[in-house]
Amino acid sequence: MIDLTGTHVLVTGGSRGIGAATALAFARAGARVGITYRQRRDDADGVLERLRALAAPGSYEPVAIQADLADRAACDAVIQEVVRALGGLDVLVANAGIWPADEVAVRNMTDERWSRTLAVNLNAVFFTCRAALRRLGSGGKIVIVSSTAGQRGEAFHGDYAATKGALIAFVKSLAVEAAPDVTVNAVAPGWVDTEMCTDTFERDGGQVRRTIEAGIPLGRVASPSDIAGPIVFLSSDLARHITGEVLNVNGGAVLCG
Ligand code: NAP
Repeated sequence: MIDLTGTHVLVTGGSRGIGAATALAFARAGARVGITYRQRRDDADGVLERLRALAAPGSYEPVAIQADLADRAACDAVIQEVVRALGGLDVLVANAGIWPADEVAVRNMTDERWSRTLAVNLNAVFFTCRAALRRLGSGGKIVIVSSTAGQRGEAFHGDYAATKGALIAFVKSLAVEAAPDVTVNAVAPGWVDTEMCTDTFERDGGQVRRTIEAGIPLGRVASPSDIAGPIVFLSSDLARHITGEVLNVNGGAVLCG
């Protein structure tokens, strides 16, 4: 059992999917948790309600902050607001991201798609980490959510794969810079059962999902909580001597760590 009592945690993109599961896993470990969301206010409120129920009575008030993290000023404001609301910041989980589902060859990819994916998946992580690093003290932790796509590439999703690969290079650079005070690691999920992939999984009457599962040695698509556990581990003192690492969580599908 990991005990994070009194630890102040921000999970970006905590309104649903991996981010929501991660926020709740931190709360179960006793942490004080803030989340961000972009537009799904009802989902964020639902997570907030569950965070409140997990908090020790009278301990703190969890917070959900609306922000489009592609905007630098918004990232600065989020960090400021979470420090104010929780009373500090010890852990940043840079999780928010997009996976444009349409398959597009690079030769046909629009400037708009390329720029938006980079803005949300890469620039936002830089902005958020930079602002957080100005607040994190000794013992601080950053966990960035990358992807298998960042290591093996992803045909017809070149924009997405490029951002997730860049995040790994960023983690390895930042890990050395931020040492010894702050550890910086990545979790790289394979397929996860979230809204991001629902349309893909359901294609051909669910045959696409069955084909994906057949290619995963552990035989199943991950649940969001399968990813949350490793993120919480890397944010705990159990992982205090780990930095600059990529923890693949993909059921053995891509053994390239
Ligand atoms: P998801 O269910 O689609 O949730 C995405 C989250 O990011 C939501 O909270 C969303 O807020 C937020 N978000 C999206 N764009 C944003 C923006 N511009 N500014 C601020 N927040 C924004 O996604 P997920 O599947 O949990 O994915 C989480 C992370 O895991 C992503 O970085 C993704 O690339 C990575 N990943 C996912 C998979 C997978 O198979 N699902 C695999 C590998 C890696 P709203 O709810 O308000 O829209």
